[in-house]
Amino acid sequence: MNITDLRCEYLAEPTAVENLTPHLSWLLESPRRNQRQVAYQILVASSSQILAQHKGDLWNSGKVKSGETVGISFNGSPLQSRMQCYWKVRIWDQDGTASDWSKPSEWRMGLLNPSDWKAIWIGFDHPRKSAIADKKGVLLPPPCYLQRHFKIPKPIARATLYGTALGNYETFLNGKRAASDYFNPGWTDYQKRIYYRGYDVTDLLQEGENAVGIILAEGWYAGYVGYAKEREHYGRYPRVLLQLEIVLESGETLFICTDRNWRATTGPMKFADFLKGEYYDARKEIPLWAQPTADLSNWATVNTSKAVKGKLQSAPHPPVRVFKTHRPKSITEPRPGIYVLDMGTNFAGFARLKVTAAAGTKIRLRFGERLQKDGTIYTRNLRHAKATDTYICKGAGEEVFEPLFTFHGFQYIQVTGYPGELTKGDIVGIELSTAVPVAGDFRCSNAMLNKLYANILQTQRANFIDIPTDCPQRDERMGWTGDAQIYIRTAAYNNDVQAFFRKWLQDLLDAQRSDGQFPMVAPLKVAGGDGGPAWADAGVICPYTIYEIYGDRRILEICYPGMKRFVEFCRKRAGKDLLPPAEFHCFGDWLNIKAETPKPVIFSAYFAISTHLLSKTAEVLGKQTDADRFGKLFQRLRTAFQRAYVDDSGRISGDTQTAYALALQYDLLDEPFAEMAAAHLVENIKDRNWHLSTGFVGTRDLLPALSKIGRADIAYRLLQNETFPSWGFSIKHGAASIWERWDGWTPERGFQAVIMNSFSHYAFGAVYQWMFENIGGIRTKADAFREIEIAPEIGETLKHAKIAYHSIRGFIQVRWRQNKQLLQIDIQIPPNTTAVVHLPAASLSEIKESGNPLKPGDDIHRRQIIKNKVVLHIGSGEYKFSIEKK
Ligand code: BGC
Repeated sequence: MNITDLRCEYLAEPTAVENLTPHLSWLLESPRRNQRQVAYQILVASSSQILAQHKGDLWNSGKVKSGETVGISFNGSPLQSRMQCYWKVRIWDQDGTASDWSKPSEWRMGLLNPSDWKAIWIGFDHPRKSAIADKKGVLLPPPCYLQRHFKIPKPIARATLYGTALGNYETFLNGKRAASDYFNPGWTDYQKRIYYRGYDVTDLLQEGENAVGIILAEGWYAGYVGYAKEREHYGRYPRVLLQLEIVLESGETLFICTDRNWRATTGPMKFADFLKGEYYDARKEIPLWAQPTADLSNWATVNTSKAVKGKLQSAPHPPVRVFKTHRPKSITEPRPGIYVLDMGTNFAGFARLKVTAAAGTKIRLRFGERLQKDGTIYTRNLRHAKATDTYICKGAGEEVFEPLFTFHGFQYIQVTGYPGELTKGDIVGIELSTAVPVAGDFRCSNAMLNKLYANILQTQRANFIDIPTDCPQRDERMGWTGDAQIYIRTAAYNNDVQAFFRKWLQDLLDAQRSDGQFPMVAPLKVAGGDGGPAWADAGVICPYTIYEIYGDRRILEICYPGMKRFVEFCRKRAGKDLLPPAEFHCFGDWLNIKAETPKPVIFSAYFAISTHLLSKTAEVLGKQTDADRFGKLFQRLRTAFQRAYVDDSGRISGDTQTAYALALQYDLLDEPFAEMAAAHLVENIKDRNWHLSTGFVGTRDLLPALSKIGRADIAYRLLQNETFPSWGFSIKHGAASIWERWDGWTPERGFQAVIMNSFSHYAFGAVYQWMFENIGGIRTKADAFREIEIAPEIGETLKHAKIAYHSIRGFIQVRWRQNKQLLQIDIQIPPNTTAVVHLPAASLSEIKESGNPLKPGDDIHRRQIIKNKVVLHIGSGEYKFSIEKK
């Protein structure tokens, strides 16, 4: 077996770990069948040389009898600030054979003690006074430039940079950007916690004269955030904290820290704001500003802050980085001098502009998601977001501009002021996203579904900018809790989002109200602290989902107290009958198609869902009393639900697809009501000529509920519809992303209301959960894919489908193809896992594996026939099943 993907604290080679018993994990690969790990040995060493001798001076776990590959806590010598830890692992298989050692990996400890920080918070407050006022008279202060020179007297062994800010910052060492990340330190409730990151910057420094420069912008801290047209949500004056630690070959350490000796000024960046965009006047550039030769004599002294409130912690999640560069697909000139570039897809990021022009030439780039009839970009749906970048040329040959502190959600760029003819090489789109590893892949015989899958990925990337946002373009871009809980499982099937969501779950806990209610958005700003049903429940659904997919109990331990307080909050505010109070906030089945589900139904369904998950969580954590108590409460909630909303014929109040989908998917009904409700659901869809009517709350669960009642045929039909409302409808009308609403644009009406019409909202993309779990048929049965269920539902309308997934246990793939005579299903599962495979055949004799009939002694461990399906138990490896069709 091959060992790959060594991870520490859910990340590849993290550089500032704070957990003193960091969690380690790895993946196993093998083409052979029935491979298992029965033991492992981990070595952790303080140098790569020691590790190369197969020694672990920090930890030698010895041979540990265990099949576990995730969540293994370091258990060696005490770890200290800045320690470099090199590690590797080997395993023993079922025959007792030891593997080779894995390739070495490493992690570095962060700054564990407050006293490790010698830097102080600095900024430059003067710019506010010279700020540009926008139309409303609001001052947009320019980002500030901070610098200091320093000398390194002797050869350098290694250098590490630790930095964070209140605001967003970029560091330059001797003129070069110190990291390729964007928008550090990310968005948190800065009053509570502020994340720093560590970088190895050895290669950017030199013996002799050096300079470190910082540009500090307002970011989420002081800039515009959300729809309220408000700035300065967390504070007025941005600050940065930076510590450069240079270890010399002689053994001494040199500390270059932000302090009073730094110098400050303003420069070419006139303002930089997420919603407004960036304004850059290249004529004001300060030559060599971040180089040791810069003349700082006119620079001002910096402002400092002694202490800030938030706790300094190492960032637990991957940074935002460039995902891809997009060349324009076409350029039009709808009006003289106004160019419109179609980037071919709707993403989050910015444009890189190349231009040769006279000094003072002003070029404006405006970003939009769609075009108007006249060929110019449609921007009304951006509401108050200006989404405009402005560049003023310095007139010095070819100039290149790209912003540092803003992003836009767009497919089109409208350019004004460009001198001469604009060609495709002059502007490229730079797509940004949080650097979460890709985990999934989907392909099938239906081109529309392949496009749908691409649109889902595109929209996920556009909305994973440090936190899971609702949309990347208008004046919103907040961590809406409802959207996140609806989408989280799909997100995890597309990318490794464990570290990303662990970060956001902390934001969510930080935002929990003292009475236990979870908010509308996290970090909590602009929108309210009472999320209401299906939004607040993110506080329970998200941690449980992350646990189910990644198998790490620690996230449940961290979240459990908050999860419990939330369910107790729901319990308290419900009446004796466990039904909702007379008044409560609820967004309802947001953006449904004329099918309003009564809010009490949503309240009660979600109260039950969260209670059930809480009881399962208590079970996982060994809290049996709680597990029983909440298990019983769940049963009582089911009874209350049925009494209050279900009539004798199984009709649920509201009679909507969403109401039935929730009740069926989450087992809220007893027989015979479940069966009757199932019939009503089918009727309802049929009455709409086989179309859905669900909004945010119902859509994720509609197709799974149909599969559950044995009507995958209808699920396939809804999925493949191309008439309104459907996913296919938007694609037919050019969607390159998932729209916020089914009717974002229709041929009859054109654009929907400007107040609420994003073309990049991932909620309806949650249909991928069904595609993965039902077309692919892949689910975790136990212990985060250690036991896998594979039960593909073969759609008559598809010729073939392939669903691949890099799970926390390794690579899983299901591929099927069919013709009139034969159905072939290839399955691959990783070492150390087993799967229960459900095949659509009435008897064992209909099935062959790799061309051979199933027979005793082959690699199939158990065979059963359950409800017209053959159920096979397999160990790891690849299997090729074929089934003759009758
Ligand atoms: C957001 C949604 C969010 C909703 C609350 C909107 O403005 O864009 O995605 O869930 O408000 O209903």
